[in-house]
Amino acid sequence: MTRRFEGDRLVVASHNPGKVREIGDLLRPLEIEAVSAGELGLDEPEETGTTFKANAELKALAAATAANLPALADDSGLVIHALGGDPGIYSARWAGPGKDFAVAMEKVEAALAGKTDRSAHFTCALTLAWPDGHMETFEGYVHGALVWPPRGDRGFGYDPVFVADGYNITFGEMEPDAKHAISHRADAFRQLLDACFKG
Ligand code: IMP
Repeated sequence: MTRRFEGDRLVVASHNPGKVREIGDLLRPLEIEAVSAGELGLDEPEETGTTFKANAELKALAAATAANLPALADDSGLVIHALGGDPGIYSARWAGPGKDFAVAMEKVEAALAGKTDRSAHFTCALTLAWPDGHMETFEGYVHGALVWPPRGDRGFGYDPVFVADGYNITFGEMEPDAKHAISHRADAFRQLLDACFKG
């Protein structure tokens, strides 16, 4: 059975200030305080999983155990169908140590040369873990296609080359609120809120 969150405080198992802020905003109306893993001085575990779900679960569980509080973690990335799912869980790593997504997008485009299928989706796995080891995980998606050259300077990561189905502008050109309404992260969050927080 799905476990519901009953407390008033949880750890956001991320050292990324953007993610911590976004999750804090989502939890505020529920009167839940979000404390970041960074604030608590928690180490970031190595992402050794082979799926988004496994990586989200290992991050959430490590934080919940270390902080003795429920913890929320996500793992996300771009899945390109003609590339057998690459870059997938390695989406951040394709940008190299300098985290240069212009380089990552060039790499994607080079790998797609000569291929007609340019379909792709973003995935977000979101896990809520409790200190006793119980976990609830939800996966969200947004489907679309890749364009070249990159367009728009909003967003982050692969946003400038991704056009969601039904749109003709890239995520990099979209108003942040419009992207957040249809994103893989929003999809996963809606499922989590419905299952573990509401009612
Ligand atoms: P994570 O922090 O391990 O989940 O890294 C996810 C990586 O996937 C990011 O660094 C981006 O490269 C990519 N990614 C995930 N979500 C998005 C998105 O909404 N737009 C663009 N890129 C994304």
